[in-house]
Amino acid sequence: MKIPFNRVHTTGEELSFIGEVIRSGEMAGDGIFHRNCQAFFDERFGFRNTWLTNSCTGALEMAALLLDIRPGDEVIAPSFSYVSTVNPFVLRGAKIVFADSSAFDPNIDADTLEALFTQKTRAVVVVHYGGTVCAIEKITALARKKGVPVVEDAAHALDATRNGAFAGTMGAFAAFSFHSTKNITCGEGGLLVINDPQYVERADILFEKGTNRKKFLEGAVDNYEWVDVGSSFSLSELQAAFLYAQLRQLNVIQAKRKTLWRLYYDLLLPLGERGISCSPVDPRGESNAHIFFLVCSSIDERRALSRFLAEQGIASASHYGALHQSRFFASLHDGRPLTEAVRYAERLLRLPMHYSLEPKEAEAIAAQVCRFYQR
Ligand SMILES: *Cc1c(COP(=O)(O)O)cnc(C)c1O
Repeated sequence: MKIPFNRVHTTGEELSFIGEVIRSGEMAGDGIFHRNCQAFFDERFGFRNTWLTNSCTGALEMAALLLDIRPGDEVIAPSFSYVSTVNPFVLRGAKIVFADSSAFDPNIDADTLEALFTQKTRAVVVVHYGGTVCAIEKITALARKKGVPVVEDAAHALDATRNGAFAGTMGAFAAFSFHSTKNITCGEGGLLVINDPQYVERADILFEKGTNRKKFLEGAVDNYEWVDVGSSFSLSELQAAFLYAQLRQLNVIQAKRKTLWRLYYDLLLPLGERGISCSPVDPRGESNAHIFFLVCSSIDERRALSRFLAEQGIASASHYGALHQSRFFASLHDGRPLTEAVRYAERLLRLPMHYSLEPKEAEAIAAQVCRFYQR
């Protein structure tokens, strides 16, 4: 048996769409496939204002610029996440106030958040870990009370829902990733969604490197010029073509992943008797089956399980180091213990989860995990 942790799935239409782009000669951003993708996001998820970016990190950098984050500002974010959740705010000089995860799942703990707000808090960033939407209704209610916008780092969460609402529709901003490790990919790519209309006009300018080119293309001004700060955030049309081919197969891709996820869940849930928990099912929402994980009872056990699986040809992966303990941030952290974040950082193990995985393989992986615990 040789099962990789991830395999990029292609749907079959990518090459012909890329061929169309090459023949058209319009290879920069903002072409037909850009607009096809945007129309898809609008119809399928109700994302009205979107920018296809070169990464989720880039989309979050746009959000940090639009929020006008400055040195001394504070941004609340989960410690159990990828660096890109916070780096865009660190780049603008913000101080990150890290929040703990909940005991239920690795998402930010909405119930301990209020104490982290100060007069300097300028944003709350949340992550929908593994494609399970966090307790966002509590967080947006709290943030509204404090007058602070919420940013959804929805890198994992395309097509995930909570209380009937799609991830990406609840924060002032949301950012998605199409990195090759995500459910839908174009190699490297991202999407910024803006739900608070006050930021839309300036987003067009930042996206156009600080110029009013968008207005010019719409015929609203005679020539375009430098009017604000900005950068190069756009996805190329070649990647948008690849992305559109993937989006057209979204239902098929998601159905397969959900089948695999459910298989793992049903086969591994009994390990609960041994104190091993699976990715939990939150009845308030539907996960997009981005990640399936186990939480082992210790770091040593996780390492041993990962080694055991590797010996059987099965790749597995841990996820993430707690950011407040990282080499970059440890000396900047205010010292609060974030015990749940550390627990997930030490004990969480992800099993292979990708479109090309066959149900038989998922069953074999689950059987090996059970064998490990029966020894
Ligand atoms: C993958 C990921 C990102 C970064 O996505 P890119 O598109 O590679 O920039 C950000 N946040 C989280 C939680 C991620 O998993």
